[in-house]
Formats: sequence, C-alpha cells, structure tokens
Amino acid sequence: MSAPDDRAADSNKCIFRVIARFDAPVTQRLLLPARVYLPQRRVERVRRLEKAFQKMRIVLLGAPGSGKGTQGEKLVAHFGIPKISTGDALRAAVAAGTELGKKAKAAMDAGQLVANEIVIGIVEERLGQPDAQKGFILDGFPRNTAQAEVLDAMLVRLGQPAIGKAVHLAVTDEEIIKRLLDRAVKEGRADDKEDVIRHRIKVYNDETHPLLDYYEQQGKLMTVQGVGTLDDIFDRILGVLK
Ligand code: ADP
Repeated sequence: MSAPDDRAADSNKCIFRVIARFDAPVTQRLLLPARVYLPQRRVERVRRLEKAFQKMRIVLLGAPGSGKGTQGEKLVAHFGIPKISTGDALRAAVAAGTELGKKAKAAMDAGQLVANEIVIGIVEERLGQPDAQKGFILDGFPRNTAQAEVLDAMLVRLGQPAIGKAVHLAVTDEEIIKRLLDRAVKEGRADDKEDVIRHRIKVYNDETHPLLDYYEQQGKLMTVQGVGTLDDIFDRILGVLK
C-alpha cells in the first residue's frame, strides 16, 4: 500500500469507529447539523462508509486453523464492532467450570460439534447486547446448516438486519494440519492433537463446508485465499467487504 492509501485507510478506520459507537445514523445526527463547517464531499464520504456498515454483519467461514480468529481480531480493530467466537466462549466456560462448560467439554476434546442448543444460546445472548447492534463478526458460528437457519430467524426476531456477507478463508488441508500442529506446540490446546485435528477437519468438511453453498445461493459468499502474510490476507478481506 502506498502512503496516501494508508492515510485514507486510517481515516476510514476512525470514521468506522465513530459509526460503530454512535447509536443513531452519524450523517443525520452528528454531521448534518454541523454541515456548515464540513465540506459536502466529507459528508458524502461518511454517508458512503455508513452505508457500507449495513453489511457489517459478517460470518467468517473456514476450516479450523484457517485464520478466522486472527483476521476477526483485525476486523474488530478496523470497524470497531465486536467479534463473537463460539470457540472462545466455550473454552472460557470450560475453564470456569460452569454447567455449560461441563456439558461442552467432552465434545470439544473429541473434536465433535457441541450440541446446537448450547451454542445457539450463547450467540443469541451475545447478539442481544448493545455493542452488537451496529454490526458484528461471527467466528465459528454457524457451523452447520441448522445453525445458519436459526441465526437468520434469530436476527429477524432481534429486529436486526440479515447477515451481510460470509467471508470464506480458503486454505488447503495440508496447510491446516501443519498450522494446527504448530499451534499445539505453542498453545497446548486440548483439541490440537493430530487424530483430533484430522477429525475436526472431517467434521468441517462434512458439516460446515455445505454452508458455503448456503451463503453462495444468497449471493453473500466471498472467498478469500487464506495464505500469505496476515496483512495481505486482511487487505483481501477488506477488498471483498467494500
Ligand atoms: P477451530 O476453528 O480451531 O476448530 P473453535 O475455537 O472455533 O476452533 O472451536 C473449538 C471447538 O468448539 C469445536 O471443535 C467444537 O467442539 C466447539 N464449537 C465451537 N463453535 C461451535 C459451533 N458453532 N457449534 C458446535 N460446536 C462448536
């Protein structure tokens, strides 16, 4: 990226953060009254970015280890909207020894999916919170077609706009296994053992991969190559979110 592009991206980032924090349309409530002081093209730019925000209900799709967590954090920093990770929420519940954690642990350790009603409850509770009203990034949910259908109905029930885009991080199976074995050494996650990893990839291919069709049919699927530097991948994601 050249320096002027960097500056434009940085200033978009600031505007996005204001949009995410403000509970009314920024152009109407903040900028229009101040228009005397702002050039029209500035107001137009904010309006354009605010429109882009209507798509900021993003599902991240991709095999375990495809980089959803890492890229999701970069999206959080860029847009100022929260990331909801069912994997993180479940690991926290296991670590805290809650009832929910106890129910989830065996399935997680075996690389199986946790029961739909458990993860659906986690997501619904989180999506109802104030910081998720302007947009959110879902990481690890939905993970099967039933969850995707429940999610769509849940957004209607919560009075929120539908999912805007599903971003698929495409990475080969060999690369996935390599990354997860690497992570096993660094982080020591209980489910990063080779046989469990292979099983998680199978579960992904059998249950989660069909979701690509689900979102493709709705014209929402954006596939991004998930290999390269973190910044390059992130730029590709920003490109498909425009
Ligand atoms: P990864 O993407 O590396 O497989 P996650 O952190 O997303 O890891 O999830 C870890 C585990 O948590 C999964 O293997 C599964 O047992 C459970 N889990 C997470 N999200 C869901 C979900 N939406 N539905 C069912 N189980 C889930």
